[in-house]
Amino acid sequence: MPDRTAPGRLALSPIVAGLWRLTEWNLDVPARVRWIEQALELGIRTFDHADIYGDYRAEALFGEALKAAPALRQHMQLVTKCGICLRSHDRPYRLNHYDTSASHVRAQVEQSLRKLHTERLDLVLIHRPDYLMDAGALAQTFAALSDEGKVAHWGVSNHSASQFALLHRQHPLLTQQLELSVLQMGALDDGTLDQAQQLGLRPMIWSPLGGGRLFRDDDAQAVRVRQAMQPIAARHGVSLATLAYAWILRHPSRPHPITGSGRREGLREAVAALDVRLDAEDWYAIWVASKGHGVP
Ligand code: NAP
Repeated sequence: MPDRTAPGRLALSPIVAGLWRLTEWNLDVPARVRWIEQALELGIRTFDHADIYGDYRAEALFGEALKAAPALRQHMQLVTKCGICLRSHDRPYRLNHYDTSASHVRAQVEQSLRKLHTERLDLVLIHRPDYLMDAGALAQTFAALSDEGKVAHWGVSNHSASQFALLHRQHPLLTQQLELSVLQMGALDDGTLDQAQQLGLRPMIWSPLGGGRLFRDDDAQAVRVRQAMQPIAARHGVSLATLAYAWILRHPSRPHPITGSGRREGLREAVAALDVRLDAEDWYAIWVASKGHGVP
């Protein structure tokens, strides 16, 4: 029997690579293999997918690279997500919705296995909270797919602390994947990061650079944050991107930021943040700029 009581045993790499934008990178198979090799060389061993990325095409693009270079699989951890039903050419749903039924989760897991050319997924997340989720039934689905050796660990994404607790009581979850950045700080206050710290379950962090808004947006918040960050980045001798990752890494829940960059330099800037430790004044200077007011 697989051990379902020890979800903490999977250690994700400190920085994770996200494949949401893979279809935009226009990489042929050798270039995709090279991109994966570069990530691994930088110490990025965990790769974050979802069934729906690239209109259901991104997993297969990555899988083609793994088929071309199968030795890479043993050096990496594959994470994917399911539970969102997105209308698309091959998916004529009447509307976008969520589905955490046994049949849907099983079908999506088996599809991810096929597309990624792998026999086992290291971690599968329920992508968004399904208001119709039956936690007991979903836990049985998790257990069945783990017993079959198809999924090693389970987690969720974008769930409230109580939604996480509801499922975690039925089946041990490894992590919660949340949005957090210098432009989006909701997770600091909504209880999800407190819960991660309390349970000792390190969160994964999506859009750590605000999806690139940090560099391109001209709204008042983005301008304030860049202005506050520039002198701090200069003092630490790092780029704005590296400082943005360091701001996330400073949180005591010990988060794993997920870089969304398709460039080697973008991956390197994420990894460089592991060598930067901000003091509380630098961290709060960025918080103040993001909020537009001082601490109460
Ligand atoms: P991100 O790192 O915040 O944003 C990536 C974007 O920023 C890319 O377009 C990247 O372009 C750009 N960028 C990076 N460095 C830059 C620089 N110095 N100057 C200008 N642009 C720069 O992350 P994300 O892609 O939004 O999200 C990361 C991952 O999180 C996704 O791949 C996915 O795995 C996961 N995710 C999960 C959820 C969820 O609901 N669970 C939601 C969204 C995302 P380059 O390629 O040119 O570097």
